[in-house]
Amino acid sequence: MDLIAVAVPFFLLALLLELIVDRVKGRNYFRANDAINSLSAGTLSTTGGYFTGFIGLFFWGFALEKFSIFDMPLTWFDASPSGIVWWVAAALAWDFSYYWFHRFSHEISIFWAAHAVHHQSEDYNLSTALRQTSTDFLFAWVFYLPLFLIGFPLEVLLTVKAVNLIYQFWVHTQFVRRLGVLDYILVTPSNHRVHHAQNERYIDKNYGGMLILWDRVFGTFQEERDDDPVVFGVRKPLANWNPFWANLQVYDYLLFDAIHTKRWRDKLGVWFKHTGWRPADVAQSHPKGRVDLAAFDKFDPPVASPVRRYVLGQFIVAIVAVLLIADWYARAGAVAVVWPCFSLWAQLYTIGLLNEGRVYATRLEAVRLMLFVPVTAGLFTTTSVIPVETGLFWVIVGGYVVVSSASLAFAAARR
Ligand SMILES: [Zn+2]
Ligand SMILES: [Zn+2]
Repeated sequence: MDLIAVAVPFFLLALLLELIVDRVKGRNYFRANDAINSLSAGTLSTTGGYFTGFIGLFFWGFALEKFSIFDMPLTWFDASPSGIVWWVAAALAWDFSYYWFHRFSHEISIFWAAHAVHHQSEDYNLSTALRQTSTDFLFAWVFYLPLFLIGFPLEVLLTVKAVNLIYQFWVHTQFVRRLGVLDYILVTPSNHRVHHAQNERYIDKNYGGMLILWDRVFGTFQEERDDDPVVFGVRKPLANWNPFWANLQVYDYLLFDAIHTKRWRDKLGVWFKHTGWRPADVAQSHPKGRVDLAAFDKFDPPVASPVRRYVLGQFIVAIVAVLLIADWYARAGAVAVVWPCFSLWAQLYTIGLLNEGRVYATRLEAVRLMLFVPVTAGLFTTTSVIPVETGLFWVIVGGYVVVSSASLAFAAARR
């Protein structure tokens, strides 16, 4: 059973509840554009994972089959007292590995390039939790390889992996302040707010996934302080709402430095040295200014209300689409959802542009809507799970295009 897929509806419900509480209390912890961008990145990560997730699984399975030291059968992991001890051992081992994976993800440039996506939100709410990278399939699996070499069963490790990720959802909130003794042991909202801060004092702190004890042991713990309120976000802001660029931004500026530096050693160092390190020659020829947090302004381009409403409507459609695609994927595999995913990604892209108030965004969105029916007809695979040959399917698709086009024309005329 895919625990994360089961958890997604609960995530969305909790998110909606937090949004309602936010509006009732007037806290302004949510901005629609930032939350939509976070959820778009999360959607991209989940649907992209349909095509990349096999890489880690392949290496894990290979390590387990060929090189595992102990043979731990699934029967060891039952509900008996000794079985529970094994489960707890697996969960602790995973959390320990997560700590080191997460620490490297912040402290080494190439790993930061993948992980930065999770930190670009300048707000902090449950949507931030779902803001996940699409490129950590390249190397994240390496950090958990020792657990497979030890010989923990695959099913057990995949379960504790899912539990670890699901646990981390609730800590992305500002509505829970301090939790006393729990703040000492567990990763809690207060501890994790520190982790999402760009304040000098809080940088590279609180890497834990479930237990904050790892940070206390390895010297990376920092308490949240009332005299130093957290400023959320990253030092080099994303400054757009493009979920694809969110995944490429850091790779892009590392590539820039690697191309422009003269020495070969530095061309390599750009990727593997401590995050923030730059070759002396490029730092001199292309200097980057220091961030002044006192003058920090959140990225928030003005967008006319009709366009904002249009974007919100499209985003709700995208959420329904992603739930449908998840169901199709679960029942028919990755090949069946290639084109639905491309179509969804195109929608997320134009939603981002519209949210930035770009002049050409409306035209691009009109083109997307015009192409929607022919692309769906020509490229959506006929499978038992995608009912492209039924009348109802086309009524829904046609209705979507007509209503969207009319709303877009209305929004464009009123902007
Ligand atoms: Zn992080
Ligand atoms: Zn986080």
